[in-house]
Amino acid sequence: MKNLIRKSVQALDGYVPGEQPQGSDVVKLNTNENPWLCSVEVHDILREIDMAALAKYPDPVCTEVRKVIAENLSVGIGNIFAGNGSDEVLALCIRAFVERDGGSVGFFDPSYSLYPVLANIEDVETRPVALDENFGWQMPDGYESSVFFLTNPNAPTSLLFPKEKVEEFVCSFPGVVVIDEAYVDFASETCMDLATQYKNVLVCRTLSKSYALAGIRFGYCVGDKELIDALYKIKDSYNVNTLTQEVARVALLDHGTMEAITTAVKNSRKLMTEELQALGFDVLPSETNFLWVKPPKPGAKKIFEELKKRNVYIRWFEGDRTGDYLRITVGSDAQTMLLVEALEDILGKGK
Ligand code: PMP
Repeated sequence: MKNLIRKSVQALDGYVPGEQPQGSDVVKLNTNENPWLCSVEVHDILREIDMAALAKYPDPVCTEVRKVIAENLSVGIGNIFAGNGSDEVLALCIRAFVERDGGSVGFFDPSYSLYPVLANIEDVETRPVALDENFGWQMPDGYESSVFFLTNPNAPTSLLFPKEKVEEFVCSFPGVVVIDEAYVDFASETCMDLATQYKNVLVCRTLSKSYALAGIRFGYCVGDKELIDALYKIKDSYNVNTLTQEVARVALLDHGTMEAITTAVKNSRKLMTEELQALGFDVLPSETNFLWVKPPKPGAKKIFEELKKRNVYIRWFEGDRTGDYLRITVGSDAQTMLLVEALEDILGKGK
């Protein structure tokens, strides 16, 4: 029988998201979720939700949430695009800014593993740029692509690129620079102001990490109106559902909760760093809610597998350089101690 699937789709591997193991005894430190609960306002708004509103389609352009973001960031509402998680925003950026015929997608290697998958889905070329031996900034002279996804702070390395480097790059780069700030609330610096200064910059954010709302799927980007309008032209008709819009709106109004849980994560990050260093791990200075660590013997892959047997889930990325490292989400302090206990067992270092 004739193959019914498009050839380019047959050839795809598809994105494999981090595992979502269930069960109360699982220590889940593999997908950079927040161990704390979101704003209690969210609970209240869900109880008050108007059933009649659910019978209607959602606002197609997320007006009320965008008003709050505009106010928070002092930008125009016309400079904001809202999506079903920032993953959707990233996918739309390729569809809007990369020509099918001859266009290309750039990103650092290593960085977020979704970018090349999205480029493959759209059947466009990828132009990865290798980071230096310490996972620091490195950009070849005259480098070009249609879009460059610049993850800052970077994932999975947890490091923040200096803002001067980012700005210098933006000024000389001929395409659209999408600065992916998924983890910026855990960092010491943001590039948000570049989105209003430069016509080729979009800064993308999510409520999945610092707002503890990965389950609602809400992300947005900020930038020049011309770029934003292009994204609105190609999005799905009602890309963000009514419940998500309401939850996002009240969560974004409650700065206090976001700041409190972000501070708590940063404190736990310090504890986890010290505990892992005491076990002989090399821990890179994280500006995110996860750590990028080089473990002692028996090495990254083996430790990853042994932790999984003990119901502790972290992330290991196969690859020349990444294969020697592990990415561990900063959990609660109780989760950190369960991780440490399991590691002591694996490393034969029981206290
Ligand atoms: N960008 C980066 C760098 C990420 O690590 C993630 C989380 N997987 C995302 C974007 C996607 O975030 P969201 O949940 O908003 O789709």
